[in-house]
Amino acid sequence: MNTEVLIVGGGLVGSSLAVALASRACPVVLVEEGGGGRATSPSYDDRAIALAQGSRRIFEAIGLWDELASGVCPIRQIHISDRGHFGFTHLDSRRERVDALGYVALARELGRVLEVSMAAQPRIERLAPARLVDFVIDADGVTATLNRGGQATQVRARLLVACDGAQSEIRERLGLETRRWEYGQSAVIANVTPALPHGNIAYERFTDTGPMAVLPMPENRCSLVWTTDQPGEERLLSLSDEHFREDLQQRFGWRLGRFIRIGRRSSYPLALLRAHRIVDRRVVLVGNSAHTLHPVAGQGFNLGLRDVAVLAGMLGDAIAAGADPGADDLLQTYAKRRQGDQLGVAMFTDGLARLFSNPLAPLSLARNLGLVALDLFPAVKHEFARHTMGLAGGVIGR
Ligand SMILES: Cc1cc2nc3c(=O)[nH]c(=O)nc-3n(C[C@H](O)[C@H](O)[C@H](O)COP(=O)(O)OP(=O)(O)OC[C@H]3O[C@@H](n4cnc5c(N)ncnc54)[C@H](O)[C@@H]3O)c2cc1C
Repeated sequence: MNTEVLIVGGGLVGSSLAVALASRACPVVLVEEGGGGRATSPSYDDRAIALAQGSRRIFEAIGLWDELASGVCPIRQIHISDRGHFGFTHLDSRRERVDALGYVALARELGRVLEVSMAAQPRIERLAPARLVDFVIDADGVTATLNRGGQATQVRARLLVACDGAQSEIRERLGLETRRWEYGQSAVIANVTPALPHGNIAYERFTDTGPMAVLPMPENRCSLVWTTDQPGEERLLSLSDEHFREDLQQRFGWRLGRFIRIGRRSSYPLALLRAHRIVDRRVVLVGNSAHTLHPVAGQGFNLGLRDVAVLAGMLGDAIAAGADPGADDLLQTYAKRRQGDQLGVAMFTDGLARLFSNPLAPLSLARNLGLVALDLFPAVKHEFARHTMGLAGGVIGR
């Protein structure tokens, strides 16, 4: 099998890239080791993803927003506070002159829309379940060996895109080094239903164990992301629903009234990872394989989607001009264009995670002053809001 671009990994980023490339007339083979629907088990507890305004624009550009819009919940306000302290701030879509500061989508629904779009697109060949087991790089391209139900299949491509996640085997095989920050923390997530209407407000609350986010979802549900250390994680997962509710209520407070339904809980270990180099000969790392972030600011997928937008634009142009999509100079240019945004978001997210998970008094004072300052100085707050909305830096599209 021959193609221009081989994408390994059909998570949210790899699938978005396949659709974006097909929209630029670029033939793609996408390989995903999980079977169809593996990541899409329908349940009350599906993970919610906060999409920035910039991500909406990218989905509009690749023709998916209309399909997604009916299932997302707009965030009209963000309320940021520090439990037990005086500082808090408030971001408002009206003040920022936008319809919404962002949108909350179910990962399951995003995956479904992407799968339907890929199935309808003749330029995309999706092989699943199939696992990349080996690849050989030469001057003109990459020969990949896949395991499909015990059978070996070969794919020849001019460019290999590694969308194979935080534990990327492609990155490891190429010896591309990474920098890792381990937080010794996990995110416990659950969908919860409050008694009072959420009013499309997202809450970011910094507690003594770490940040807690409560995001508005359709049908007055909320997605809870509660960051905690390892003993805290074990405790929160083992509590009865009633005891969990009491703990949650005590830390979050009563702004949304009583939480009347608690969904199934699960947890994700937290680390920040950044590859020193995101390109190699005929290979590019995109999404979590290039950078895995702490979910405190809901930036990981949004950043990956900006990688997708820039790469799809550059590859689409190269193919339209009859140029080589795996050419070294193209890949180097891509890496340069993404460097600032990737580094900036990683530092911003890491700084927030550290600042707000540290109970030391001077830091606590600093962040409270910071929150108050954000509220007093609209210009600073506007910049903060632009970062949160994924609009800062203007790295949207091509
Ligand atoms: C608790 C939590 C909350 C989050 N909330 C937000 C949020 O609100 N907003 C936001 O923007 N981001 C958020 N994120 C981050 C976001 O979920 C990730 O950035 C995004 O899902 C990464 O997608 P990916 O496709 O790069 O990687 P992955 O989802 O890890 O996908 C990698 C895929 O590659 C496949 N694969 C791996 N190896 C092979 C192989 N050899 N052959 C074939 N296939 C292979 C895997 O099966 C997998 O499907 C959150 C993350 C967490 C943990």
